Amino acid sequence: MDTVSLTGKELAAAINADTKQRAAALTETGAAPRLALVVANDDPASAWYVNSLRKAAERLGIACDTVDLGADAGVEAIRAELTARGADAATDAIMLQTPLPAGITLDDVSSAIVATKDVDGVSPLSLGLLAAGLDGFVPATSEAVVELLKHHGIPLSGRHVAVVGRSNIVGKPLAQLLLAEDATVTVCHSRTADLAAITSSAEIVVAAAGRIGLVTGKHVAEGATVIDVGTNEAADGGIVGDVDAESVRGKASGLSPVPGGVGPVTTALLMRHVVDAAQRARA
Ligand code: NAD
Repeated sequence: MDTVSLTGKELAAAINADTKQRAAALTETGAAPRLALVVANDDPASAWYVNSLRKAAERLGIACDTVDLGADAGVEAIRAELTARGADAATDAIMLQTPLPAGITLDDVSSAIVATKDVDGVSPLSLGLLAAGLDGFVPATSEAVVELLKHHGIPLSGRHVAVVGRSNIVGKPLAQLLLAEDATVTVCHSRTADLAAITSSAEIVVAAAGRIGLVTGKHVAEGATVIDVGTNEAADGGIVGDVDAESVRGKASGLSPVPGGVGPVTTALLMRHVVDAAQRARA
């Protein structure tokens, strides 16, 4: 079977074209939409990601402040910065980078991000709104998976989707979004007894575990669609997904590439959220 490459570049470009226009319109009526990126680490992968977000914002006419609190910042300092940005009328959107300093989890600080500016949907309030099916910002990566599937014309209603990974920022919110699309969802995780038995019974498999090569040909049914969310550091310094593309290609009907699949759509949706937040704040 020919395996179609489910790329995200065209979709990201279409979203970005619209975001750029909307950002320009907002800028004309006042100030450019403004995103605050709060960083508390000295991790090179995070620095690379922050830089790519800054560049994306710049291309779209979105102002971007990077607030570097240092890798030894404490819970109180991080919460204080997030609260201050929440109260700052010039800041439309807030994004907190991970990893956080040793011993600090997202749960310790994310409730300090006000939901109206929480463009990556990480706060307990945003996650609760999503679980209840109410309006709020949803995590961009999870939303990107659903948008990528829709863009490539893959139906979700009534279909069995296996999500591999149950984190609060990818797996769990993705399961909620898929339920809202009327899919039947199985969430797999590190304690799932027989991963291959479950994933190979699904019509769509989403790999979001952060483990290189976890999903192989034996995990995928003939003709299934496979979305690779993983972004892992490869031995050569590049990035590589969770799917062993070689063994899945020829068996799956579609596979999203890494890089170039979920990643560009995630960034485009984050920037769209920034403009959404600015538009609502100024309405
Ligand atoms: P995480 O470490 O918080 O969660 C990983 C999840 O995978 C856990 O729920 C764990 O139970 C599950 N898991 C681990 N090993 C497993 C195994 N052997 N079998 C089944 N399940 C297993 O990671 P995360 O933050 O959710 O990110 C997941 C991946 O997605 C990472 O590679 C991350 O870099 C990537 N990611 C990509 C984007 C993007 O825009 N493309 C954004 C965010 C995260």
